[in-house]
Amino acid sequence: MLLATYDDDRVGLISGDKIADVTDDVRFVTPPRSGGTTMRDLIRRWSSVAPVLEQQAGRARRPLSSVRLRAPVLDPSKIVAAPVNYLDHMTEMSEENHISSLGVFLKAPSAILDPGGTIQLPYTDRRFDQEGELALIIGRRAHNVSEEAALDHVFGYTGLLDITMRGGEDRSTRKSFDTFAPLGPWLVAADEIGSPDSIDLRCSVNGGLRQSANTRDLIWGVPALVSYISSVMTLEPGDVIATGTPAGVGSINAGDTIELELSRIGSLRTSVAADHAVPCPTKGAGRGPVPPPPPEQVGD
Ligand code: MN
Repeated sequence: MLLATYDDDRVGLISGDKIADVTDDVRFVTPPRSGGTTMRDLIRRWSSVAPVLEQQAGRARRPLSSVRLRAPVLDPSKIVAAPVNYLDHMTEMSEENHISSLGVFLKAPSAILDPGGTIQLPYTDRRFDQEGELALIIGRRAHNVSEEAALDHVFGYTGLLDITMRGGEDRSTRKSFDTFAPLGPWLVAADEIGSPDSIDLRCSVNGGLRQSANTRDLIWGVPALVSYISSVMTLEPGDVIATGTPAGVGSINAGDTIELELSRIGSLRTSVAADHAVPCPTKGAGRGPVPPPPPEQVGD
């Protein structure tokens, strides 16, 4: 099942190039109480919502191209991310440690950007990189779950671009600027993905392929990530976990376009601008993990 958030807090079921509005079906089962989005309520009450959504006959469908796709979950309580979770990325960053030493970090939910949106680079004098990642969405509250039980707590999968300022500032600063978490294009339910450890990931900038990997190469796969994170903090329905990026990170600049493709999921596209960029007020530029040199400029 492919589920999207679109327009003004609508939730839709996607089939092919069509989308069916199921917002009222969800709201019939779970009336809004907390002020949360319809998608988050759908996830929270999934066992009651799913049987209703399976009665699809006769539901009106419209072209997917006629709606404005939003990030599938606009209001997670948190985005948890893996810092170094592919060996080839550890090597390119000259890092001596990976996730088993580093643990995880938090990225601000206010950084979420809709599919097709524009990443706004905040500074004129700092390097920013793309990091294409598989993301998972938590389906059931998870606290101290075992690896064996971890996948029962996953609702579905989507794409996330972990946009990053390079340097020595804390990760939560460098990765939390507004627009630095493009998410989407939609959610694919976990039962449709099957095992999350064989998803192809490709990330391109301006059409040039930078990252090509498979989630089988994750140092900590999805069960280990969910289990570990749930031992640190309680995971809530709708929370987002970014699984980490493979080798091929590189600098991005105003005017660029980025595309993240995940097999069995889809493509997340964004553009890059620096409309209100100013000099950076913090001085971490010369410190921190050392990224690979900028990709060679093509065509000039
Ligand atoms: Mn990352």
